[in-house]
Amino acid sequence: MTDLRARERVFDGIAVSPGITIGPAYVHAREAIEVEERILEPDLVEQEVASLHEAIERSERDLNKIIAVTREKLGEDSAEIFEAQRLMLFDDAVRGEAERCIRRDRFEASYALHRVMQRHRKILEASGNDYFRERAHDLQDVEDRIIRHLRRGRLISAVDPSHIVVSENLTAADIILFSRRGILGCAMDYGGLTSHVSIMARSLGVPAVVSLHGLAGSISTGDVLVLDGLRGRVVVNPDDATLEAYRKRKDRFERLRAEEKSLVHLEPETIDGHRVRLEANLELRDEVSFVAEYGAQGIGLFRTEMLFLVEGRLSVSEEDQFRIYQAVVSAVAPAPVTLRVLDLGGDKLLPVAHREHNPFLGWRGIRVLLDKPDLLMPQLKAILRASAFGNVRILIPMVTDVGEVRQVRALLARAREELRSEGRAFADNVPVGVMVEVPSVALLADRFAAESDFFSIGTNDLTQYALAVDRGNDLVSKLFRDLHPAVLHLVRKTLEAAKRRGIPVSVCGELAANLRAVPILVGMGVDTLSMSPVYLPGVKRVIRSMSKEEGQLLAREALESDDADEVAARLDRWLEEHGCGVPFLVDSRNGH
Ligand code: PEP
Ligand code: MG
Repeated sequence: MTDLRARERVFDGIAVSPGITIGPAYVHAREAIEVEERILEPDLVEQEVASLHEAIERSERDLNKIIAVTREKLGEDSAEIFEAQRLMLFDDAVRGEAERCIRRDRFEASYALHRVMQRHRKILEASGNDYFRERAHDLQDVEDRIIRHLRRGRLISAVDPSHIVVSENLTAADIILFSRRGILGCAMDYGGLTSHVSIMARSLGVPAVVSLHGLAGSISTGDVLVLDGLRGRVVVNPDDATLEAYRKRKDRFERLRAEEKSLVHLEPETIDGHRVRLEANLELRDEVSFVAEYGAQGIGLFRTEMLFLVEGRLSVSEEDQFRIYQAVVSAVAPAPVTLRVLDLGGDKLLPVAHREHNPFLGWRGIRVLLDKPDLLMPQLKAILRASAFGNVRILIPMVTDVGEVRQVRALLARAREELRSEGRAFADNVPVGVMVEVPSVALLADRFAAESDFFSIGTNDLTQYALAVDRGNDLVSKLFRDLHPAVLHLVRKTLEAAKRRGIPVSVCGELAANLRAVPILVGMGVDTLSMSPVYLPGVKRVIRSMSKEEGQLLAREALESDDADEVAARLDRWLEEHGCGVPFLVDSRNGH
């Protein structure tokens, strides 16, 4: 009988972070919370107690955020439920007993905690009183929360480096932890090109493929995988011929990467002398070196919320933020740094007590910050202080109404006043820009242009909101077409309004790195393209192969097309004719 597990199988998905990697799988299961009795080696006992403390502290941080949000959104009564849970965390009958149980019985922390909690729950449930029965549920919640924190650290630290992590779904925070373990790549059943976990994988340089439908459930840790983060494919148990073909492909890609480095010092200029600015999207402070390495002319988008994710908390003080922004701004000065204020919500987890049914249509971006000036004010002050060290711009995410821009400007004026009275230095006239990512802004771009110093078009969200396609939902990932003529019309409308007002426009969504889109965007008159640094050389190659006039023609054709397929087919021909059609690179931007 043939060994089915050893047979080669191919899974196709969406390429979200370039690179080809070959290695054993590590299947990361987000299993239901079950605890087993496990006895520790004596020398691990104190470490286990420390892990319990850490998990309790993390749980407290979760609950603090939940309490704050609940109090504000649902009122004091609802917040009390979570306040009670917070108190349970530190009750000696819970924490102290679990600790004693670890030391006395050498139980693992999760099992010790489970035993202690179970005893308390039984007493409450047996009371016959509704109020106490409810409290038993709370105890279960508290237990689950602590165990999740214990597990997360443990599961992630169990990964051997040199493995490819396979999971149904990961968060942006998970991928940060995995990348610190030095994993080779990452494959997920769910997700899309513009999910934040995908954006993070790109930043961290971890080759990744998402939307693989059922891969995680059908393989085992140790199975050999080929992960092709250019074509969007994972091969399980590759045979010898496949392995050989992929080794060659990997070499070719790496050679091309090395060759592309020769473009780093060349100007992003069309053959008829039209210059475009190329800037970098960064998520992490450590990535600043990529600006010089890939020849970026500045930072077009710094997603500051990712810094907060790395820190694992939302309340990073003004001082700590200032130090981070100052380091980034000084490192690239005099080139500009566009610091986007926190864009929380959507798939960038905001710890809310009640799950939003439509988080992308919910409490997100500037909506959160205007409701919570205690988050926005320290950030504005930290950014202003960093402006004394270089060239800073402030960018507002998820804007829908002109009034939101005005409110941010008023808070900025207050931040300046406070800094003045504290005797702090900051630059005058730090430009304030608006993310064009909700169609209402593109449609009323004239009015927004009057209130903004620049526009930055976020095509990831603009596409999601214009086409009604959840950017992270793999069931509709085929419909997520950022080259859709409807999206391009919104881009054009934005550009026209900006030109009338004389303000610059950049595109900072993934469309900017889509080789097919580059001639169209340049033709339409976009001033700056900002993207993950790895894509900059390839985009520069396209710019240097085109004329502005050709771009204008292609843009006109694209705007008149019926759908995204027609646009893509036309641009594929053009890229091929202009020697930019390196097959696997074009594939890499073409997961749909
Ligand atoms: C966008 O929406 O295109 C964008 C750049 O912002 P983010 O991907 O962080 O939502
Ligand atoms: Mg966005």
